[in-house]
Amino acid sequence: MSAPHTQTTNWAGNVTYASPRVHRPRSLDELRRVVRDSARIRALGSGHSFNLVADSDADLVRLDGLPERIEVDAENATVAVSAGTRYAELVVELHRRGFALANLASLPHISVAGSCATGTHGSGDGQRCLSAAVRAVELVAPDGELVRFGREADPEVFPGTVVALGALGVVTRLWLDVEPAFSVAQRVRVGVPLDEVAGHVDDVFGAAYSVSLFTDWRGEGSVWLKHRTDRPEGSWRGGRSAEGPLHPVPGMPPEPSTEQMGVPGPWHERLPHFRPELEPSAGKELQSELYVPRERAAEAFAALREIGHLVAPALHVAEVRTVRADDLWLSPAYGRDCVAFHFTWLPDPELVSPVLAAVEERLMPLEARPHWGKLTSMAPADIAARYERAADFARLSGELDPSGKFRNAFTDALFPRG
Ligand SMILES: Cc1cc2nc3c(=O)[nH]c(=O)nc-3n(C[C@H](O)[C@H](O)[C@H](O)COP(=O)(O)OP(=O)(O)OC[C@H]3O[C@@H](n4cnc5c(N)ncnc54)[C@H](O)[C@@H]3O)c2cc1C
Repeated sequence: MSAPHTQTTNWAGNVTYASPRVHRPRSLDELRRVVRDSARIRALGSGHSFNLVADSDADLVRLDGLPERIEVDAENATVAVSAGTRYAELVVELHRRGFALANLASLPHISVAGSCATGTHGSGDGQRCLSAAVRAVELVAPDGELVRFGREADPEVFPGTVVALGALGVVTRLWLDVEPAFSVAQRVRVGVPLDEVAGHVDDVFGAAYSVSLFTDWRGEGSVWLKHRTDRPEGSWRGGRSAEGPLHPVPGMPPEPSTEQMGVPGPWHERLPHFRPELEPSAGKELQSELYVPRERAAEAFAALREIGHLVAPALHVAEVRTVRADDLWLSPAYGRDCVAFHFTWLPDPELVSPVLAAVEERLMPLEARPHWGKLTSMAPADIAARYERAADFARLSGELDPSGKFRNAFTDALFPRG
């Protein structure tokens, strides 16, 4: 058995996990023993969350030492993938086999299990979050046994098992829906007035398969349009064409960004904003994000425009995306189409905290739900109250994990046990 390592931090470096032991098993059997023999244990993915959702006061376990498995079932349009695999590796293999995922996040560096556990999303009026592609999930239960839940086989509980914040067990394998590979061409429109976007949300976000608006909330933004070459383009053309490739963060060199200027290419080299081999985003940063019901988008735009002068000095950049509704109990897009308002903040908590709170004060009345993997000033009870199925999730967690082996302070605060 490999010796456990000591303390570790998340990708951004703003969080040091409390766990004194980080296990990195080399085989499934070793993982099952580690889980069985631990009193309290949490899985850690690639550590790209900005809060303590992954933390443990006892054991942490990483799955990136296990053999990587990516098995495509062409007949059933499914891929079975080992949970610690990063999208960066999964998408290359899928594309090689002629398949694609419908949606990807802004970066491929993140693990499949960690992303699906938090409802990680990309953009697109027709695209649900990455977790919604999950058809079945296999996890190690508290006694070290493997259990599996499927969309068809377990319709009553399956929707509670995917976006599960690591609280139901250590996920070892996921089965994801795939579709035939497709091509995407990415174009950027710059100098787009925010009022134009706010007044024409459906036109702007319907203009391509996947659309992102980047802005500092002061007056203008750039709109990144990712067109599927096998589908008609929307007619919206605000602002003007970018003259060269850009980085989403203004002023940063464009190299880490995926190819732009309308050059068609494979889906996995265009849907993310960032290339797998280079450092994504700003690097030194904090992030927060709120999902607002789509029909309240114009109100959210107006509220953020009002405090743009406060927001801009604390920002690297902000991003607006759309997410289609799903049925996963803890998905921030549960039961409703959303517009997601994301903020990549400067790495300065003292500067950022009051501004983040000001943003949330304005968007919370719009029934917003925060991203599970990012920072929020909201009280856990208030967050849980925004999920119709929170009590069902708490019950499921009690049934699958009666001793609370997979819980931590983050999940205890959200779903307290009586
Ligand atoms: C630069 C950057 C860009 C980002 N872009 C996006 C974006 O475009 N869209 C978006 O929605 N989010 C985005 N995020 C947030 C990120 O996708 C989420 O925080 C996601 O959870 C990261 O996955 P991870 O593997 O790093 O998870 P971790 O942070 O390691 O863990 C997150 C949760 O998953 C659980 N978990 C991990 N592995 C397992 C497992 N095997 N079994 C059970 N539970 C497990 C953990 O216990 C924890 O609760 C971004 C983050 C960064 C740093």
